[in-house]
Amino acid sequence: MANPRIKCPTCRKTGDWFAGTYGPFCSQRCQLIDLGKWLEEEHRVSVPATPEMPGTAVEAATSEHLGSGGAPDPGNLGPLS
Ligand SMILES: [Zn+2]
Repeated sequence: MANPRIKCPTCRKTGDWFAGTYGPFCSQRCQLIDLGKWLEEEHRVSVPATPEMPGTAVEAATSEHLGSGGAPDPGNLGPLS
């Protein structure tokens, strides 16, 4: 490693943080602070949910087909003998 010294994303302190337990952060405190920042941003961004239910549409179309199909009435055939 040419330069193991990196900056803590939270407090900008330089050091060999990657070798530590808390990744690029110098301490657990800084890691939690950064995590909280991310969660806060996620809460702020509201993605409108688009519920797609193709199953319902297909079901409705199928039942309509069966209803207007006009099934042949076996009683109209009459006695063939
Ligand atoms: Zn830090």
